[in-house]
Parts: sequence; C-alpha cells; structure tokens
Amino acid sequence: MSKKEFLDAVAAEIIVCTKCQLSKNRKNAVPGEGNPESPVMFIGEAPGQSEDIKGKPFVGAAGKFLETLLSEIGLSRNDVFICNIVKCRPPRNREPMPNEIQTCTPYLDRQIKIIKPKFIVTLGNYSTAYIFSKANLAFSGITQTRGKFFQAIILDMQMTIFPTFHPAAALYSAKYKETLQRDFQLLKNKLVGHAINS
Ligand code: URA
Repeated sequence: MSKKEFLDAVAAEIIVCTKCQLSKNRKNAVPGEGNPESPVMFIGEAPGQSEDIKGKPFVGAAGKFLETLLSEIGLSRNDVFICNIVKCRPPRNREPMPNEIQTCTPYLDRQIKIIKPKFIVTLGNYSTAYIFSKANLAFSGITQTRGKFFQAIILDMQMTIFPTFHPAAALYSAKYKETLQRDFQLLKNKLVGHAINS
C-alpha cells in the first residue's frame, strides 16, 4: 500500500472514532490532509469551528494566515502535510484536556510513522509539548523553544523539530505575526536542498 492508502485507512478510523467525549459534539472529525510524501509535517492543536464544519485542518482565519506564511516561503498547503494533535473540536474552542490528548494522539503517532517526515513544525504550546515528550526533550514553553531547530528521535525516526507560535496568535498581535514570519524564513533556509514543491 502507498503512504496515501495507509493515511486514508487511519483517516477512515478517525472519522468514526468515539473514543472520547469530543466525538459527541463534533460535526466532523478532522484527520489532516496534504502531501503524504512531503518531508514536512505541520502539527497544530485542535480543529476550530470552520474545521469542524468542513472536516479539514486550518481552513478558518488561522488557516488563512498559515497559508500566507507558507506562500511567503514558496510553499502551498499541498506541499506539506497538515494535521492536529486532537482530531475533534473541543467545545467553544477550549484547550484540549490531557485525557483527550492521550486518547487521540495514537492516531497522530500512526500518521507520523506513515509519513516519516524529516521535519515536524509544531504550532503552539500543545503540539510542541506533545512532540517534545515523544522525543524525550524537556519543554519549557513555546516562547522559550520557538525559532530553534531540535534534532530528535521520534518513534524510532531521526528528525528535526521546529516549534513556532500557533498562527492564531498572530490574529490578535502584530508582534506574534512578525515572529511567525521570521520563523518561517528560518524554516525556508533550513529546507534548502529538500525537494518539497509537489
Ligand atoms: N487551530 C488548530 O490548531 N488547528 C486547526 O485545524 C485550526 C485551528
């Protein structure tokens, strides 16, 4: 089976999943999407309202800004794989709870094992904390870790982790917006030599 077929099989399980309470209020689960062959995976927190309606990740206001950030470094969302640590929308966009993260992340782990990315870009506190825990790296908060490259072994694979702020942070602060734009330029430089555009 191809990576796409393996990912489709995981997505088919996610869309009917009832393992936690978030399944009760969702319209759609949001498995993730993009290029299964990409060396770069973006991991956010959890779907919001637009994502819940469409069943796709990062299609609301934060998603629009993520697309802008990608286009500023010559990429589109079809060049990378985009998903979240939690696949269903928490009520009123509250933060995901530890039991929800624990229940849902085996799906993310399977996606990582299938895609085998060379780079994981974590967007915000929650996904960075989760990926750092998988890598046995100490996590001291997104502000301290963002904008740096971390070599790590995750699920027995060597990869580079690049944490940055969640794009939603840029919607209410110009400071976060500029920092995200600078971080994406760092990412662009690091990706030189990796064939990414589909
Ligand atoms: N915020 C996230 O973390 N993920 C989405 O898919 C949308 C908004």
